Amino acid sequence: MPKKLISILLLVCLLPCLLLAETKANLKGKIIILDPGHGGSDSGATTAKLIEKNLNLEVALRLEKLLTEAKAAVYLTRRDDRDVSLVERVRFFHKYQVDAVISLHHNAKPYDPAADEVAVYRPSFPTPEAKRLANLISSELVKATGNPRGALGPANYYILENSRDLPIVIAEPYYLTHEKHIKLLQDSATLDLEAEAYFNALILFFDPTER
Ligand SMILES: [Zn+2]
Repeated sequence: MPKKLISILLLVCLLPCLLLAETKANLKGKIIILDPGHGGSDSGATTAKLIEKNLNLEVALRLEKLLTEAKAAVYLTRRDDRDVSLVERVRFFHKYQVDAVISLHHNAKPYDPAADEVAVYRPSFPTPEAKRLANLISSELVKATGNPRGALGPANYYILENSRDLPIVIAEPYYLTHEKHIKLLQDSATLDLEAEAYFNALILFFDPTER
């Protein structure tokens, strides 16, 4: 093979890897809390085939793996099926000098089975960073899932309103009550895709050139 061709090939193959490595490096040492919603006696939304608390945990563990590989410091409010009160969760968020908190949920509207949009909530009176994080997570989830953008703004949830000082969001990318989503959520590839969307949003969130 001619030398020139080899160097071109090397450049084509290496460049995306180098760029990815560089963006992932922004996550190194960042303190990220993942909060899988519900757990234990609180199942969250449930339907015949799906239980929200389990989906939330599945996605959180996948995301934890991606973030840990990128050398972020990741803490979960629960790693198994147990009760964690909202008060305990808020206390946990404030235990660390946290750089981002994501509370992972899945939506349900039994009275509106056509509902299929991505919802992302942040505190009212948020820090600029909370607002930025919410926008990035909404965009990446919409891009990854193909679901339309739904709510993106403040919501009066206990964990948000008691963490106005933090870069925190609650996100709900899929519905347990939408026919297509029910099928998708039974496929572990969908949970991988969700985790990757959050991961990509965090890469952008910590990218100094994105500010
Ligand atoms: Zn929930």
